[in-house]
Amino acid sequence: MLLLFPPAAKACEPPAGIGYLTGFLNKYGINHTIEDLNLACLLATINAPVKCQDKWSQRAAKNRQNHLESLRLSSTYTNFSRYERAVNDINRLLQINSPDHVNLTLANYEEQLSPTNSKDLLHCFHHPEKNIFYDIFSKRIDQLFEKDNFSHVGISLNYLSQALCAFSIAGYIRRNYSKTKIIMGGGLITSWMRSPAWTNKFDGCIDHLIAGSGEAGLAELLQTERKENSPIPDYTVLSDLAYLSPGFILPYSCSFGCYWNKCAFCPEKAEKTPYLPVSQTQIRRDLANLVARHKPVLIHFLDNTLSIATMKTLIRHPPGTSWYAFTRVSKQLTDPDFCMALRQSGCIMLKLGIESGSQDVLDKMHKGTKIEDISTTLKNLAQAGIGTYVYLLFGTPEEEYHQAKQTLVFTSAHAEYINFLNLAIFNMPLSGCSNGEYESIPFDGGDLSLYRDFVHPAGWDRKHVRQFLTKEFRQDKAIKEIIKKDPPTFTSNHAAFFCRQ
Ligand code: SF4
Repeated sequence: MLLLFPPAAKACEPPAGIGYLTGFLNKYGINHTIEDLNLACLLATINAPVKCQDKWSQRAAKNRQNHLESLRLSSTYTNFSRYERAVNDINRLLQINSPDHVNLTLANYEEQLSPTNSKDLLHCFHHPEKNIFYDIFSKRIDQLFEKDNFSHVGISLNYLSQALCAFSIAGYIRRNYSKTKIIMGGGLITSWMRSPAWTNKFDGCIDHLIAGSGEAGLAELLQTERKENSPIPDYTVLSDLAYLSPGFILPYSCSFGCYWNKCAFCPEKAEKTPYLPVSQTQIRRDLANLVARHKPVLIHFLDNTLSIATMKTLIRHPPGTSWYAFTRVSKQLTDPDFCMALRQSGCIMLKLGIESGSQDVLDKMHKGTKIEDISTTLKNLAQAGIGTYVYLLFGTPEEEYHQAKQTLVFTSAHAEYINFLNLAIFNMPLSGCSNGEYESIPFDGGDLSLYRDFVHPAGWDRKHVRQFLTKEFRQDKAIKEIIKKDPPTFTSNHAAFFCRQ
């Protein structure tokens, strides 16, 4: 079996999906090869001869190796402008080395074709030679098939930015290795297949689509009896690759789904993802093994929300390296000693889904959090030396203008305790429209779109929210300072390195 991770996605850490699949396949003695085509395609495009002759492009080309190397040095993360210049210059190179109709960066791939339109994806499948990475992926796939005649190829598709390339790669394999079965799985495939609008338009092109756990899906396909539920990832091959980070980042999931699972319109809730925690004993054992083997500079916990039980395990048994995670505000985090103990366990940053500074909105969204607790948590974490990446959500059906203003006031008042901010405008998941409560409007007509625009009951629509964010929220002096510090392109994936300083 061959496992592929297609472009384009942030190439700062190994893709967890194929890390977990390789762990599963190794355990059952199934011969396989893994290939991070994302990293290979991005690096090859960055290093390609630069066609553009302007001074700016020539300077970016001349410095490209220095820039790539600097993103792999921890000293760069003490100098924000040096980091910013490296990322921006590399993005510029990706853009000048791409055709005009493609917008390629270190985090994204966009073109005229839409990744949410099955016709466009099928067009990519039938015309793989039109993909900008064609020369790179076709050569690499041919080299891999020379060594092994793979019976199956698994493609891990997690982000919309990968979808067009994933289907081009699948089309190339079908055209040249017609006996090989093509399997697609990953987060995006799961979301599509769990959407109320899903019908399989890829029949005859993709042999098997897997929703949910790739390990369970593969076990069924390969008729392998699965002896345990929680796999251990294996990054042995991937850990040698030149990811754009100052050392190896270890991705690890202590749970799948979300233990809270109540927030209105959350995709996890909408997709009815079951909550599957890994046992605390296994978390301890896995982390001890993985940290000893890979000596990571950072652990990236992938959980939708890290549970209190896991935090307590990490406090009692520190993993021996820095870590960061997404979590929700809870009573435990209002205890300064608990926050201090978390810091001592290696926690350097927490991503917090705070969403709103209005208690009324939080209650209506079933966030289960109190403004006073959020305030105390932010102060405690700052006091303990734990960085915060705060996620805010505007334009929900529960919010109106005056409540968005409350979020502004709250954020500004807590600016000294917030390191980074993510501002999002609410998209209505398809399942949220299906009960007919809100009149909905398609975004782009794509039959695979997971979200729709909707008619806000109080007229607080996207246009007004956008105006508010630009003209009011982002203009606040304290908030402006936080936004300026957000690592360009890599955002939260690199933010923890800036918290260490
Ligand atoms: S805590 Fe996060 S993942 Fe869990 S239901 Fe709420 S928004 Fe979704």
